[in-house]
Amino acid sequence: MKTPPICAIPITMLCFTMILVDASVAVSPASQSIVSKRTQMHMGTLVTVTAVASDKSMGDRAMQAAFDEIKRLEQLLSTWRPDSELSHVNAAAGRQPVQVSPETLQLVIQALEMARLTSGGFNIMLGPAIEAWSVTERQHIPDQEELHRLKPLVDWSAIRIDKEVKTIYLPHEGMRIDVGGIGKGYAADRAVEEMKRAGAKGGVVALSGDIKAFGVLPERTGFPVGIRHPREEGALIGIIDLQDEAISTAGDYERFFEREGIRYHHILDPHTLQPARGCQSVTVVAKEGTVADGLDTGIFVLGPEQGMALVERLPGVEAIIIDQEGKITVSSGLRGRLHAP
Ligand code: ADP
Ligand code: MG
Repeated sequence: MKTPPICAIPITMLCFTMILVDASVAVSPASQSIVSKRTQMHMGTLVTVTAVASDKSMGDRAMQAAFDEIKRLEQLLSTWRPDSELSHVNAAAGRQPVQVSPETLQLVIQALEMARLTSGGFNIMLGPAIEAWSVTERQHIPDQEELHRLKPLVDWSAIRIDKEVKTIYLPHEGMRIDVGGIGKGYAADRAVEEMKRAGAKGGVVALSGDIKAFGVLPERTGFPVGIRHPREEGALIGIIDLQDEAISTAGDYERFFEREGIRYHHILDPHTLQPARGCQSVTVVAKEGTVADGLDTGIFVLGPEQGMALVERLPGVEAIIIDQEGKITVSSGLRGRLHAP
């Protein structure tokens, strides 16, 4: 069975034709495996789950387990929901610590590790600055004074965590945690664990461009994923076969507006609170989706040179970085694996 690549990056027409096949099922006679695929909307994005299982009902159960886990995490982590755990943490900023579930605590701890690794390039406290820009709604260009006023609110090193009693405390009113840059990768990791528990032999969980795979497709060596060209709509720069690993892309072409020839996009440099300027897109491959998703955003901010140097230092982490001029750099461990579309 030949399966088309899943598109690593959201929603081009190409992706629509490739991933939006609702509840499709294919049988592979050679291996007696059934491949099922289903798409739903969660966490504000299209989530496509593919399951490889020995029969249809197991595949269905595994896909359902993945969607249920993603819905459960959304309840904990969404800052759009006033009743989520993170919304409670944010509402109590400057007043008191808030007790959270192990899942929320683990994600915030991992997000802080990503912040350290990327010298603060990745920062889950940028909410007030992201709101000031409102790239997809108001499309406002804040002046220096406005950004300067927000600076004290985006200090990630101020987050207080008590691992014993599982509390998170934001010490100043107006501070808030926003896991938009890492939460989808985390959800993909946890959804894959649930699919394994439900008995799937393999599968893929894709929350738009945040993708985690396990096992293999029948008659293939992995799960093929296409890497989108950041400036040519519908074009791919290459395909990677994912093998028990995750891939995630941060790009400047998804959510942006242009004014006087300048592109203002949704990934902010926490040091300037301006859109980060060094890259057009950063794709990271890592064992964990949480790491891939956190690092793609953090490396985007670090820029191509520092970003690639970090990737080469980190074991088990690979990347494709496309810089501002469109130059593509592939990390040493990925060079033989990126093949022509
Ligand atoms: P997406 O797939 O949603 O584009 P990304 O991994 O590219 O996700 O992260 C982008 C989101 O992360 C933004 O929409 C914003 O919520 C948040 N964000 C923006 N800049 C940063 C940053 N420097 N560090 C962490 N999160 C960020
Ligand atoms: Mg990210």
